[in-house]
Amino acid sequence: MLTKLLIANRGEIALRILRACKELDIPTVAVYSEADRDLMHVKMADESICIGPANSNESYMNIPAIISAMELSGADGVHPGYGFLAENADFAEQVEKSGFQFAGPSSEIIQTMGNKISAKKLAKKIGLPIVPGSEGPIGSNPKEEAKAIGYPIIIKAASGGGGRGMRIVNSESDLEESINLTQTEAESAFGDPTLYMEKFFTAPKHIEVQVLADRFGNVLHLGERDCSLQRRHQKVIEEAPALGISDETKENIFNKCIEACKEINYESAGTFEFLYDNEKFYFIEMNTRIQVEHPVTESITGLDLVKLQLRIARGEELKIKQKDIEINGHAIECRINAEHPETFIPSPGKVLDYHAPGGIGVRIDSHLYNGYIVPPHYDSLIAKLIVRANDREDARVRLIRALEEMVVSGIDTNLEMHIELLSDKNFISGDFDINYLETKLKNLN
Ligand code: ADP
Repeated sequence: MLTKLLIANRGEIALRILRACKELDIPTVAVYSEADRDLMHVKMADESICIGPANSNESYMNIPAIISAMELSGADGVHPGYGFLAENADFAEQVEKSGFQFAGPSSEIIQTMGNKISAKKLAKKIGLPIVPGSEGPIGSNPKEEAKAIGYPIIIKAASGGGGRGMRIVNSESDLEESINLTQTEAESAFGDPTLYMEKFFTAPKHIEVQVLADRFGNVLHLGERDCSLQRRHQKVIEEAPALGISDETKENIFNKCIEACKEINYESAGTFEFLYDNEKFYFIEMNTRIQVEHPVTESITGLDLVKLQLRIARGEELKIKQKDIEINGHAIECRINAEHPETFIPSPGKVLDYHAPGGIGVRIDSHLYNGYIVPPHYDSLIAKLIVRANDREDARVRLIRALEEMVVSGIDTNLEMHIELLSDKNFISGDFDINYLETKLKNLN
């Protein structure tokens, strides 16, 4: 059952979910903070409920407020989007206990995958290749552990996310201080000081595999995405398919991901994230939610991932089979942020003029409109611009054309940076790893 859906998110993803609901004829309930009354999806939803003040801990992260909003509105399902409560096992559990449908996997799976140590343990057990490193939390002799792995290593917070709670250590002399600093950060950012260490790959690519599974044991993979272009371990440009990986190597990892999902009875959309180094994949984590970059996969498969998530949540069986999934052409996505182009400091404020690009193969997922005020309280993502074309070069040229056509005035954006990056010779040749963008940005500024 899923007769009315509460959208527990804001911004572009809330609008994305609302659009999927409209097409499925599912009535919607929008929830919003006091700073978000003017969000586009709030205006478009069938009902809307204010769930608290601007501070997201008191609104979008406020589990009792969201569960009450479900009860008050009569919603029997919830889509958490990404961020906020999307990978919060307590929230999923409360939704389950209240008898509502959660558009995602079980709280138990979220719990296991939400902790990177238990996720790696499970990944290893179910046959995925993992990044070499400590099997559990850092023990009483970190120097020995690090030596056994071999420098450089990376210290990571077990509960980390969003590119935070990580520190690279190049030599033993920096180890102790790095552990202490990361522990303090992890405690304050995630409320959990647990750390682990693993091999630091100096020039890998970030490649991830999209999966989709229903409660009847049907599991599909929807190919891979290359998300190597990152700043501060956060993705900036994503594309699909990835360049330079043989079909055989891809098939091999796709099959492993499918087996892994079957092993854990995974349900809903999910993403296995890997580092790809020297023609080998190494699992780093699994995201148990829809990802920001899901539209590139939608563009080349023609499938609507959010609609499929909702269909799965309401207990339907996947109708498509693996053999029906075809990869058509190439897609690239740019994350457009309200931020200063050089300092990257967020640039909230009133959007004076907004013009969305269009034309063949262009998709824009954005909640902007003329006069909309970007609030200072949340993530600075204001739009995702996605293009598809028959091949990568046509997609690249099309994306530059669309970026040049786009107008956002009144606030600063990173539109220009995207145009530069897409014109970069290494981007054109596909010769980049996860460090490339940071190095390039340093040289630009
Ligand atoms: P988060 O959950 O914060 O997104 P991830 O574990 O997914 O963290 O890692 C985010 C990014 O950090 C990766 O895409 C990669 O760029 C970098 N990274 C993580 N682990 C390693 C590693 N072992 N070696 C090199 N880079 C890494």
